[in-house]
Amino acid sequence: MNHRPKKKFGQNFLKDQSVIDAILHAADLDQDSRVVEIGPGLGALTHELCARAGSLTVFEIDPDLVAHWSEIAPSNMALHQGDVLKSSWTDLLKHPPYSMVANLPYNISSQVVFKLLDHHQLFNRLVLMFQKEVADRLKALPGTKDYGILSVLCRLHFDIRQVVAVPPGAFYPAPKVQSSVLRFVPLSKPRCQVEDESLLRKLVKAAFGQRRKTLLNALSSGGFQKEDIHRICLHNDIDVKRRGETLSLEEFVALANDFANLEPAAADSETAPRS
Ligand code: SAM
Repeated sequence: MNHRPKKKFGQNFLKDQSVIDAILHAADLDQDSRVVEIGPGLGALTHELCARAGSLTVFEIDPDLVAHWSEIAPSNMALHQGDVLKSSWTDLLKHPPYSMVANLPYNISSQVVFKLLDHHQLFNRLVLMFQKEVADRLKALPGTKDYGILSVLCRLHFDIRQVVAVPPGAFYPAPKVQSSVLRFVPLSKPRCQVEDESLLRKLVKAAFGQRRKTLLNALSSGGFQKEDIHRICLHNDIDVKRRGETLSLEEFVALANDFANLEPAAADSETAPRS
């Protein structure tokens, strides 16, 4: 197929067979596997995935590539045209567990990970290519410069390991950045018991929203009450002057669970109807 790579769709096609082999090895597929690929592109991974797995579901946004795959798709491949971020995974991925294998478009890779966190129960393995800086953030530990929102939230649900470091020359066209393939294995249950995951997400986002601020200031700028922050941090033996980037997943979860269990504020109970 004659195709000019489109930057707006993050099209850096894989051409290095040793990287393709490493990805397939980490995916460890067999004829019972149901696989999801984001962006088949010109098929560097797709043909191999179709050959090794029982079924392959692909999402492709580029109309030219969709037209190409509509013509040549093997019988075990389901093609979905459009933006994977706007697709309903719950409607389209009806037979979990799935393996996801993809050389992700880098412009949407963080958003894909947030979507994966919302749908982690659909997957039993993920082997994904990222820009190295994003990969470093995903597997970073507390207190390091790379530690951030996705490091904390991914650690709750996944074990993450690097499969292979990938140089720019492994792609056509070569990106300006280094890349890295990661293997995510979903945990059978979350690493910590979380009362309200959306509240945990709000807390972690607030803590990292202003990295240089203390926990007290960062959380209060993120909408949490100073009085509650003081009380809950004291209860968990966490100094409010610490920065969010020093907190472990376990500490974030302890704070989030206390915020989830807060008694209604005094003002609310005063206005509450009396029985
Ligand atoms: N898998 C191929 C390979 O490894 O050579 C192509 C990978 S290329 C980095 C990313 C692919 O994702 C392209 O095919 C691109 O058109 C597609 N893509 C980009 N944004 C997308 C989106 N929002 N939804 C679905 N596919 C997308």
